[in-house]
Amino acid sequence: MNKPALITPAEITNKLERILPTVQKPGRYIGGELNQVVKDWKAIQTHVALAFPDIYDLGMPNLGLTIIYDLLNQRPDVLAERVYSPWFDMENAMRSSGLPLYSLESKHPLAAFDIVGISLPYETLYTNTLNLLDLSQIPLFSAYRTDEDPLIIAGGHAAFNPEPMYPFIDAFVIGEGEDAIGEVVDAYTTWKQRGVTRNELLVSLAKIWGVYVPSIYKAHYFSNGTFSHIENLVEQAPLPIIKRILPKLPPPPTRFIVPYIDIVHNRIPIEIMRGCTRGCRFCHAGMVTRPVRERPIDEIIHAIEESLAYTGYEEIGLLSLSSSDYTHILELVKAISRKFKDRHLSISLPSLRIESFSVDLMDALKDTRRGGFTLAPEAATERMRNIINKPVNTSQLIETVRGIYSRGWTNIKLYFMIGHPSETLEDVQAIADICKLVLKEGRKEAGNRVRVTAGVGTFVPKPHTPFQWVPCDTIDQIKLKQDLLKRTLRDRGLKLNWTEPESTMLEAWLSRGDRRMADVIYNAWQRGAKFDAWKDHFNYDTWMQAFAEVGLDPDFYTQRERPIDEVFPWEHIDTTVRKKFLIEDYLWSQSGQTRLDCREQCFACGILPTFADLRRDNPGEFWGCPEVKSPLKTKV
Ligand code: SF4
Repeated sequence: MNKPALITPAEITNKLERILPTVQKPGRYIGGELNQVVKDWKAIQTHVALAFPDIYDLGMPNLGLTIIYDLLNQRPDVLAERVYSPWFDMENAMRSSGLPLYSLESKHPLAAFDIVGISLPYETLYTNTLNLLDLSQIPLFSAYRTDEDPLIIAGGHAAFNPEPMYPFIDAFVIGEGEDAIGEVVDAYTTWKQRGVTRNELLVSLAKIWGVYVPSIYKAHYFSNGTFSHIENLVEQAPLPIIKRILPKLPPPPTRFIVPYIDIVHNRIPIEIMRGCTRGCRFCHAGMVTRPVRERPIDEIIHAIEESLAYTGYEEIGLLSLSSSDYTHILELVKAISRKFKDRHLSISLPSLRIESFSVDLMDALKDTRRGGFTLAPEAATERMRNIINKPVNTSQLIETVRGIYSRGWTNIKLYFMIGHPSETLEDVQAIADICKLVLKEGRKEAGNRVRVTAGVGTFVPKPHTPFQWVPCDTIDQIKLKQDLLKRTLRDRGLKLNWTEPESTMLEAWLSRGDRRMADVIYNAWQRGAKFDAWKDHFNYDTWMQAFAEVGLDPDFYTQRERPIDEVFPWEHIDTTVRKKFLIEDYLWSQSGQTRLDCREQCFACGILPTFADLRRDNPGEFWGCPEVKSPLKTKV
């Protein structure tokens, strides 16, 4: 049965002219910005829409999508265009005027694209993803899509447990997408030329390293409801699905789109390093992005020069999971200051480790950095910091903040998390004590202008981490701890930010869920759940009603301590960090035994044996792992 003709870009533009004057921030919906890439639709073979399932202001700075946009548009046979979720007012206007979701560059409806790639950096974007597909008039379930419907793929850190979203996404890219996306496009183009069934497309995608096609696998559970195993329904479907990595980081994008409206980060984002080997036991990103790969200084400088020419921005973000761990961070900051001294650039280093944030680096940043600093001790007692494997002693922290204040900065943000395993109320009280100590140190240096912000998140035991076996705190336990902080962190120089306990539960359900969570997500969306990542729009009761209707117990996912031999519903997704290593690290945490940054000593987490060939074939590339001959080779 042929689908009705799709609305044309001209018709979309007409409707937009009537709608835009009625909505907030119309600049989110018009495109036409400096450096956007517009190609001749008819002349291009494969049309890819890249979607971020939240508003333009949040999606535009997403570096993952920017990299893929840049790489795909470098291909003569592909065009890539952007799509973001409309805000409530715009969505209502679109639904009431029959305007489906469209791309910013050419105003084509999403249903006209061949491939729709959705970025999933975090789980609370799931209902927005369903809403995005619905607004695009694309069937929500893979099973109902026909050959005329776009191929729906997704990637990002949340995809390391793809199971809760399995029926909505045709294929997931697990790990780094730079090379994989090109191979997905090639497989799609070949399929189009061959004119075979959509299922044959899906099977061909499953053969691509790092691509997971959930529809050709079946999940099995024990009678007690715990996960048993995953079964591949077709022979070519690999098990496990090994994450995709790049032996060498490609040159960074430089032609950044300059928005008409203010967005979350108005700066040039340069990824200086990928991966982190500090081994913080709660850190999902640190475990799934190994090994460490660094960009050479000259490549970074060249990219900054080009980006400045393309954008005119005045701030540079030197991005990574732990920028002060970049081997040549001091030389890099000095080189940037020297090279661009007449441009008065501001340099932001979003993630600084107390241990590697040297006074020399502070001095080098003194003339190029405005605003304040963010430090992440994560826990306030040395006992807890050893358990989470962030072994910084308190005197080091105080030494660092004294150095910051003595150089004229007055704002410091401290990141902590409550809810870690074996945490006591004394450990929570210590958060307030440390913040007051930092404030006192600051006032010695800079008087009453000093401000300390305590950003206190709540720990969620994430898949593929040493803490994946532990339960979350209950809502009551979290409230008890937050109330203690609200009571004790009282001073006009102190500010406390926290995460609502109910939002923590949502993140935990979605990140620790199995395939049965898909029914809950769908049900919650049908009940109106969307923008769940926004505190003012997340509705806890909606989700509890969805759990009730689907007949699932939310505590099954959050409150259960897992036996060490339990099989996790995400275990067939192989980050190449071995389960044995995670178990060992989990058991070490129980005695507060710490582990060095493995750049100093390799603990054979599993990365090297898996990628030994890749590494051998890419000599000269910086890999954080030391030269270890691989005893057991796993063909990739
Ligand atoms: S292989 Fe060794 S050095 Fe490399 S990430 Fe794993 S533990 Fe660290």
